[in-house]
Amino acid sequence: MLLKKYTFKSEKNGPAVLFLGAIHGNEPAGSKAIYMVLEKFASLALTPLKGSVSFIPVCNPKAFEKDVRQIDENLNRIIKKYDNPKTYEQQLANELVEHISQADIIIDLHSTFCPLGEPFIFSDYPNDMADKISSSLNIKYIIKGWPQIYATSSTILDLSTGACAQSFGKTCLTIECGHHYAENSVQTAYYSIMNTLLCLEILQGYPSKQIKQEYIIMDSIIFKTKEGKLSKDYNHLDKVTTGEILATYDDGTTEVCPKDAYILLPKANALVNCEWFYLGHLQKDL
Ligand SMILES: [Zn+2]
Repeated sequence: MLLKKYTFKSEKNGPAVLFLGAIHGNEPAGSKAIYMVLEKFASLALTPLKGSVSFIPVCNPKAFEKDVRQIDENLNRIIKKYDNPKTYEQQLANELVEHISQADIIIDLHSTFCPLGEPFIFSDYPNDMADKISSSLNIKYIIKGWPQIYATSSTILDLSTGACAQSFGKTCLTIECGHHYAENSVQTAYYSIMNTLLCLEILQGYPSKQIKQEYIIMDSIIFKTKEGKLSKDYNHLDKVTTGEILATYDDGTTEVCPKDAYILLPKANALVNCEWFYLGHLQKDL
């Protein structure tokens, strides 16, 4: 076994919740927060009132040790069973599939390279439970529609933790807790874990929710099809307007904003043929 999993069980029936950290090795915030909560369960300062709580603090141990995103490939795009795993991440995926299949609710903690690092939730396969948990968290933006835009792209399959959970009929939220190395990101991850456990009544009390939340629906994905540059140093969730030139290729052709939108996950240094940025809109504009 490559992955270390820690489980704390109640005698009483209830949901099995699994927290995942460092699916990407250079995202330590979720792992740090998981260790903080894990220690409280291990020392019996916290005990589950029902169901069970499991933690895998580091889902890509080799990449985590080297502080890199991945060893051979992006783990969060390849989560399925492999009969003959050929890469390190495929071996990890085989273990993760088992763990995900054994849980009812999976909370996958990530962080971003974006300098402002506003936290947000990816609710890829929303259901009542996913909505209940995400609305108990102190995170302003909830982004939906990721699988739908990937369905329109023939180049990338959605083989994320969320898609894997969905294939087993489980609930999954992916939380982007902020910038990789910001102390706030650890706090966001920590309170997301605690509020999830309170919301599920695995711990006693009420989630401390203060924020008004907004739902953003992803509309499109823009691949960097050839060499070029973004027009600005865009931040995730910046507003962009109809007709704005978002990016210019070296051959002079451009990517123009088709309608007022939010720019999501812009990657200034994206490689050719990779995801460059996404566009989305507020749900109330529907
Ligand atoms: Zn990540």
